[in-house]
Amino acid sequence: MINKKKEYLKIKKETPRKRDAKERVVDFNPTYYLFSKDEADTQSLRCIKCPVDHLKGLDGEFDFCRTGCPLSNKIPLWIEEVRKGNIKRAFELSNETSPFPEILGMVCPHDILCQGGCTIAKTETGSVTIGAIEVYLNEQAFKMGLIPDYGQQRKKVNKKVAVIGSGPSGMSCATFLLRGGVEVDMFEKSDRPGGLLTYGIPNFKIKKDVILRRFGWMQEAGMNLFLNTNIDKSEQLKQMIEEYDAIFIGLGAPSSRGARMKNEDAHGVYHVMDILKHAQKRVFEDFYESILENKHVVVIGGGDSAMDAVRTSVRMKAKSVRCVYRRDEANMPGSKKEVINAKEEGVIFEFYTAPKEVIIDKGRHAKGLICQKTELGEPDSSGRRKLNVIENSDFEIECDVIILALGFDNVEFPWYDDMQINTGKWGDIIVDKNKRTSNKRVFAGGDAVRGADLAVTAAADGREAALSILNDFGITL
Ligand SMILES: Cc1cc2nc3c(=O)[nH]c(=O)nc-3n(C[C@H](O)[C@H](O)[C@H](O)COP(=O)(O)OP(=O)(O)OC[C@H]3O[C@@H](n4cnc5c(N)ncnc54)[C@H](O)[C@@H]3O)c2cc1C
Repeated sequence: MINKKKEYLKIKKETPRKRDAKERVVDFNPTYYLFSKDEADTQSLRCIKCPVDHLKGLDGEFDFCRTGCPLSNKIPLWIEEVRKGNIKRAFELSNETSPFPEILGMVCPHDILCQGGCTIAKTETGSVTIGAIEVYLNEQAFKMGLIPDYGQQRKKVNKKVAVIGSGPSGMSCATFLLRGGVEVDMFEKSDRPGGLLTYGIPNFKIKKDVILRRFGWMQEAGMNLFLNTNIDKSEQLKQMIEEYDAIFIGLGAPSSRGARMKNEDAHGVYHVMDILKHAQKRVFEDFYESILENKHVVVIGGGDSAMDAVRTSVRMKAKSVRCVYRRDEANMPGSKKEVINAKEEGVIFEFYTAPKEVIIDKGRHAKGLICQKTELGEPDSSGRRKLNVIENSDFEIECDVIILALGFDNVEFPWYDDMQINTGKWGDIIVDKNKRTSNKRVFAGGDAVRGADLAVTAAADGREAALSILNDFGITL
């Protein structure tokens, strides 16, 4: 089954090199270097080209990169082209299924998606470094002057679609609609496009010019982008239904969860997006005010947004940064490499610790956090071990700033009802397999449908919605 030459055994797996922690904590520049030509060429030799389509459906033994990828990207095919030195063909193949491969190559949790499915991930040598090769080949192609397909060569059709929200789901939907020759108007309430790619995920994970570059191309291809435009009233939507042939909703899951602890409304207690957005504005607008400078910061939570918050706090010159998480390191839900990065940057972790109460001064400013120790109990019905608080285990952590990074919920906008858009019990928009809502001219995807999830699943939803809309118009790509 496995390539006879077994290059993957001879060539050591390499991941992108990273900047030294001391160097990287003083700025918001990317943590990792991109693969060089040599690195990409060599690492691409490790792919054994599993006969994916032939073997798909076999039980258990093989998962494969393509089935691990929510976009089902043609990974072995473009790796093969990189190996042959045919960057143009690799670029075409990579962009055929993915609306922004160089972005997803940076932000996807590859270890649990494509690289988790890689056949040789199960050998002692480890998976092919798919994400890094994906970024390399696309950046190479851009350097060669290649531009992604936004329907530049296609005759325009007489159809017009409104995309509400410019996050990955909206970007993806717009990309595939443009490829079909459809006119696209995109509405975004923020001052910059990109959703959480722009104002959530920090610049040290994905450079913002990489995201804005895609918008530049989409606008050159004819997409109208309306920034600072909040679409939140039934009248606006009703007018849109008249004006457009279809509407795509990609509003995300914007409601940040609280910790339900005493004094949570004190000064100095922030929701994670307040901090990340502030930090991101600094990168764009080059100002240096830091609300965290010289502060003792505690971040509550153990997922990716908590790791983004601790690493951002370090860069915003906090005096100390602690992460409080109620389970242990092995149970942290986010990317392991981000935990390692945070530790290298001086973040202190308090595991098996649950927040109980914010200690405040007379002016209601936070000056500490009362916590309780926890322990793992018996498994619940899902198999996950329950969490028990240990009695009389209270202790205090001194701090001036507390950041809540406990996840996000959907918001059920009143106009959903007026537009006959059905929602689930968490305020999530209900769609069918074609991403169509209960209003047949309205489609939806991304976090607004799934709850807080991933950029790549949002991209997959946007693509599926666009293909359904094109199908309604009688257009095939
Ligand atoms: C801090 C953080 C870090 C993350 N890190 C990663 C990561 O490393 N990798 C990964 O894969 N995923 C990550 N995610 C998750 C990922 O960013 C989201 O799953 C993804 O962005 C969802 O895409 P979306 O298009 O559904 O929504 P969003 O990205 O939330 O975009 C929604 C857009 O709609 C706009 N909008 C909302 N309401 C309106 C309105 N009424 N009118 C007009 N516009 C409106 C918003 O301003 C926003 O721009 C992270 C999330 C967070 C919060």
